[in-house]
Amino acid sequence: EYALRNDKIMPKADITISLEDRGYQFGDGIYEVIRFYDGELFHLDAHLARLDISARQINLTLPLSMDALARRLKELTALSKIGDGKIYLQITRGVSRRAHAFPEETEPLLTAYTEEVARPLSQLATGIGAITVQDNRWLRVDIKSLNLLPNVLAKQKAKEAGAVEAIFIRDGHVTEASASNVFGIRNGVIYTHPVSPFILNGITRQALKVLAEKVGIQWVDEAFTEQELMEMDEVIMTNTVLEVCPVISINGQPVGKGQPGQHTIRLQQAFAEEIAVLKRG
Ligand code: PLP
Repeated sequence: EYALRNDKIMPKADITISLEDRGYQFGDGIYEVIRFYDGELFHLDAHLARLDISARQINLTLPLSMDALARRLKELTALSKIGDGKIYLQITRGVSRRAHAFPEETEPLLTAYTEEVARPLSQLATGIGAITVQDNRWLRVDIKSLNLLPNVLAKQKAKEAGAVEAIFIRDGHVTEASASNVFGIRNGVIYTHPVSPFILNGITRQALKVLAEKVGIQWVDEAFTEQELMEMDEVIMTNTVLEVCPVISINGQPVGKGQPGQHTIRLQQAFAEEIAVLKRG
């Protein structure tokens, strides 16, 4: 098994992390999760562009160029010999004596490794349950930072309630979920929270917007309330691993007819077609 450490691919077991790494001590870093199907990286450029934005927001300089990083990630994926999987990549501000302010000289540490992950076909076919929780995160969740404690706690609460995801409510409005973006469909129109510091602009969200246009579903970047969420005909969640997943119940109440709706299925088909095109090369 191989992993990437800055610009070098090496055996995963040879990578050690310092006790004084700022990612470990402060969560001072950023990350990406990148999907691959049949060994082909999906929306790699969009993930790297977002990584670049996250890095700039926290004044982090990447230890290698974006082109070099893209090459290394492709090599790493090929070496893994995995068909369907994901890359977990993170960059921290590196190692220094523990003090909150940036060290004088920082050497950011980039690590990445692959993991086999099958497509979540049964969840995609039957849909998942969700709960709603207060969005108690900080006000810059557009940065894909390592600080995920509120997300962890929300997801655990969902799990304990027998659900898969926790939908965050800020000032009465749906922002996103603990690890995914949220969409409501009403009378054939798809609504979602606009890009802002209150959501992570998901790569799958961006892909879905293109697909909605392609299949002729009107898209509105507009936040909706928790009440409106409960009255949607269809609800969808997206992320890199979950893809385009129907939500069929929220807080134990059925969404629409309690099964994946027609628009959701249409969007799923368009997404599956995009994967099929990637696989064909
Ligand atoms: N929102 C949050 C809080 C996330 O953690 C994620 C991804 O895990 C997403 C949205 C979806 O982003 P993407 O589609 O890029 O995976």
